[in-house]
Amino acid sequence: MVVTTRSLDDRYGRVATDLRVSLTDRCNLRCSYCMPPEGLDWLPDEAVLSHDEVVRLVRIGTDLLGIQEVRFTGGEPLVRRGLVGLVGRTRAIDPALEISLTTNALGLSRQAQALADAGLDRVNVSLDTMRADTFAEITRRDRHRDVVDGLAAARAAGLGPVKINAVLLRGVNDDEAPALLRWAIAEGYDLRFIEQMPLDAQHNWSRESMITADEIFSRLEAEFDLTPASEPRGSAPAELFTVDGGPATVGVIASVTRPFCGDCDRVRLTADGQIRNCLFAREESDLRAALRGGATDEQIADRWVLAMAGKRAGHGIDDPTFLQPDRPMSAIGG
Ligand code: SF4
Repeated sequence: MVVTTRSLDDRYGRVATDLRVSLTDRCNLRCSYCMPPEGLDWLPDEAVLSHDEVVRLVRIGTDLLGIQEVRFTGGEPLVRRGLVGLVGRTRAIDPALEISLTTNALGLSRQAQALADAGLDRVNVSLDTMRADTFAEITRRDRHRDVVDGLAAARAAGLGPVKINAVLLRGVNDDEAPALLRWAIAEGYDLRFIEQMPLDAQHNWSRESMITADEIFSRLEAEFDLTPASEPRGSAPAELFTVDGGPATVGVIASVTRPFCGDCDRVRLTADGQIRNCLFAREESDLRAALRGGATDEQIADRWVLAMAGKRAGHGIDDPTFLQPDRPMSAIGG
């Protein structure tokens, strides 16, 4: 039932319709650009929203606030128990809702079909390398095969287009861009390269060491002919290019060097029930307290609207006053 009475507008004319819901801050990998080898201090169980609470907030978002798309993320959302049931309950809210999952694909080979049957539309899988030893170096876990199997299971279950997000790290896998693209095209996956963002728990990110979109292009163009895709980009983060005349494409998400904040339509809900109007927001709005304090749907919606009004024009990474958020990516949700 869609009874939208208002929308999630900000002061710059943007309207959020894409809700990213983090289901946990935990992850079963330890990617070096995300967290230290020993992991982080995870949220206590009682701080994390229950399935009932997640479903209620998603329903408020869709019914009252114009949310049209929900992406479950983490941490690693597949480690959340009962994910299939949660997807099913989310699907029951609105048959037209776009529901997707951002995952590292560990264990996806066992769950892909059940997730598709429950109403999941598609997946985005993080995979930075085709070399098992490089995968183990980046993620500190020897699980490359599981990711490749998970991708194949997602494709077989119809969770497409299956998108792969790859981050290139200088001196680690930055020689792999053409090989990754060649493999993704052969397998029928949509590959997108993403500039690394300053969202690591260790605060080790540096602009100097980051592989920029320009470098990604020069590596790819050494082996492929790239042409800007004709379809309009809209609010999508990826700039799309057809490869060698198409139909295959490759995406480049230049979050740092070519920000797309002017077209942003995203809002994030953390696993502990905080609304973040931007990945790089310095403030959060506590919907969990409202939920658990007995607030009505209307009151929660009002608080959510207010949280969006304070969204800044952009991430400001280039601004001398830029401050990395206190929470790392794993606790915000990608
Ligand atoms: S940095 Fe913030 S405003 Fe920019 S695209 Fe990301 S979430 Fe949107």
